[in-house]
Amino acid sequence: MDTNAAAARPFRARTIFSTEHEMFRDQVRRFVEREVAPHHRDWEHAGVVPRELWRRAGEQGLLCTMLPEELGGAGGDFGHACIVLEELARVNASGVAFQLHSDIVVPYIQHYATPEKRAEWLPKMVSGEMIGAIAMTEPGMGSDLKAVRTSAVRDGDEWVINGSKTFISNGQNAGLVIVVCRTDPEAGRRGMSLICVEEGTPGFTRGRNLEKIGMHAQDTSELFFEDVRVPAANLLGELNMGFRQLMHQLPQERLIIAVRCGISMETMLEKTIEYTKQRQIFGQTVFDFQVHRFKLAQAKAEIGMFRVYLDDCIARHMKGELSAEEAAAVKLLGTEMQNRLLDDFLQMHGGYGYMAEYEIGRAWADARVGRIYGGSSEVMREIIARTL
Ligand SMILES: Cc1cc2nc3c(=O)[nH]c(=O)nc-3n(C[C@H](O)[C@H](O)[C@H](O)COP(=O)(O)OP(=O)(O)OC[C@H]3O[C@@H](n4cnc5c(N)ncnc54)[C@H](O)[C@@H]3O)c2cc1C
Repeated sequence: MDTNAAAARPFRARTIFSTEHEMFRDQVRRFVEREVAPHHRDWEHAGVVPRELWRRAGEQGLLCTMLPEELGGAGGDFGHACIVLEELARVNASGVAFQLHSDIVVPYIQHYATPEKRAEWLPKMVSGEMIGAIAMTEPGMGSDLKAVRTSAVRDGDEWVINGSKTFISNGQNAGLVIVVCRTDPEAGRRGMSLICVEEGTPGFTRGRNLEKIGMHAQDTSELFFEDVRVPAANLLGELNMGFRQLMHQLPQERLIIAVRCGISMETMLEKTIEYTKQRQIFGQTVFDFQVHRFKLAQAKAEIGMFRVYLDDCIARHMKGELSAEEAAAVKLLGTEMQNRLLDDFLQMHGGYGYMAEYEIGRAWADARVGRIYGGSSEVMREIIARTL
């Protein structure tokens, strides 16, 4: 047994996964170790994950794990989705946004697209042939979703879309983008709709693959829409219900971000214990200094507490019981704790922590966005404050 892994392990075993889930985890771990981990650094330099990886993941049944079998999915539950996410997080594969595709974009198609559109798109999304993205944010609007300006105007049997989006994950690779549009200029949050745009549609262009301080393998991009015409049937669900649809799906997105934090903190604690136990300074190891050992002990205690809370949220989400406020709370706590602890762990690595070849430095930079995207920490506090 790896003693550092044992040292970093939470105080008690997890109980939310079944034997079948754990068998699935073995399969996912083998895939990640073979197909992802050895290549991720190259993808960071390239700024994008190859589409071929998505097709291979599709062949192995790793995409859309929660989608019911009658819609072409694996018929799993949120536990299966967590396992894919956790195994990618374990190797800090921050560019591989399977969870955005499978567990954030696909649910909108599953719940709100017409039967014809589901039949057209979902099989390609399960196979990895069509990669999904969701475009809410605009250059002039992020946290305040209801200020969306990208417009969609009905013209006969089509929607005509004009506007631009920014910071869109999977932006370069996306074959299908859910675009948050204004469909009633006077109605605020009641005048927004979700409309799908496929790649290749005239007038839809991708801008820059944005240069970021972390998540270098993720193709976060600008998207532009100039008189883009799509069939009326590309509207998801009812007209002007976009804001409500987003509010319904966003809690799962926030829980997903927290799941990534949990594994990231556990893995980086393990790696930091390993590093500090072998790095010699002033005739002893870094670990031998009480100041560092105490910080690691404090981290283990806090991460153990977060694990219990997070697994409770996952279990309750699997039963459909997790509220929007609780999802906001677990994201807030997870991302803030992850940023604080990873910064401590990096510090214990000294200059090596700042080197990109060390995982801790990359994980630290990747983690920073957790407090911003999916709704910032301030927005999470606003959501929780409403319950006070
Ligand atoms: C790497 C990355 C990937 C992303 N992927 C996507 C994606 O796939 N799709 C997508 O649509 N968007 C995506 N985003 C955008 C992300 O969701 C937004 O950046 C985020 O919602 C914040 O919006 P903003 O950047 O416009 O900041 P602003 O809204 O301008 O916020 C500026 C500051 O004000 C604070 N603030 C906001 N509201 C309040 C308040 N009520 N009280 C106090 N302070 C407040 C914010 O917390 C922040 O600190 C991504 C962003 C990044 C960086």
